[in-house]
Amino acid sequence: MTSHREPEVVTSIVELKAAMHELRARGGRIGLVPTMGALHDGHMSLVRACRLECEVTVATIFVNPTQFGPHEDLARYPRTWDDDLVDPPAIARRLEGEFRPGHFRGVATVVLKLFHLIPAHVAYFGQKDYQQCLVVRHMVADLNVPMEIRMCPIVREADGLAMSSRNRYLTETERQQAVALSQSLFAGRDMIERGECDAGHVRDHMRTRLTQAGIDRVDYVAVAEQETLEEVERITSPAVLLIAAHVGQTRLIDNCLVG
Ligand code: AMP
Repeated sequence: MTSHREPEVVTSIVELKAAMHELRARGGRIGLVPTMGALHDGHMSLVRACRLECEVTVATIFVNPTQFGPHEDLARYPRTWDDDLVDPPAIARRLEGEFRPGHFRGVATVVLKLFHLIPAHVAYFGQKDYQQCLVVRHMVADLNVPMEIRMCPIVREADGLAMSSRNRYLTETERQQAVALSQSLFAGRDMIERGECDAGHVRDHMRTRLTQAGIDRVDYVAVAEQETLEEVERITSPAVLLIAAHVGQTRLIDNCLVG
């Protein structure tokens, strides 16, 4: 938690509420940056965007319930969790929603809880998790949550690999393979920018690029409409290219906007 001074760290909801109360009373724009920790420059780009626009930046690290020790009364936690779960909007059903059932339900629940605890004016999310950002935008609109949602560009390594906390799992060989995700996306984008309108051709080419790099466990290669995430056949409006693929044991996602 920072107002361009020394960051203040709070670790309990009671402390958080007190701090938020004080910050709100002080006035000024408050920005929220939700994370799961293991911070890298992608996360920090959200913090920088927030600090440009807001007087106060609140960054959260949500501690996963599986990290509770055996003596910490976890037994009762899942019941509370189930009661709390928020049904995500329809846009959560395709792509990630299909391959990770329940994922966006968990995301929507935690994000809504954070939004209640931290009544910021604006929250910052990364385009890296493009569908997540849309899910949050829909949720906020559907449930009348008074929070602006900003999407910040993907921060990449020098060779194009999107920064991710999961990249640290990659072996050296896998790390080299992983660059095929962004290369495949950029190749797809180049095709479209050169005039290709057949989404099938683009998808095939992107898949081939992945296979050539030895990535054969591909969850999806999608050419979709930017707002609805519906797969398109003819590319006639702004599109988003999305990939989810397994490199070794690690599942990576990446995407790229076109037009
Ligand atoms: P996570 O800790 O993975 O849940 O990510 C927290 C936030 O950081 C999410 O809004 C992500 O989309 C964003 N983020 C993660 N990686 C990147 C990246 N490479 N560039 C921009 N934003 C990112």
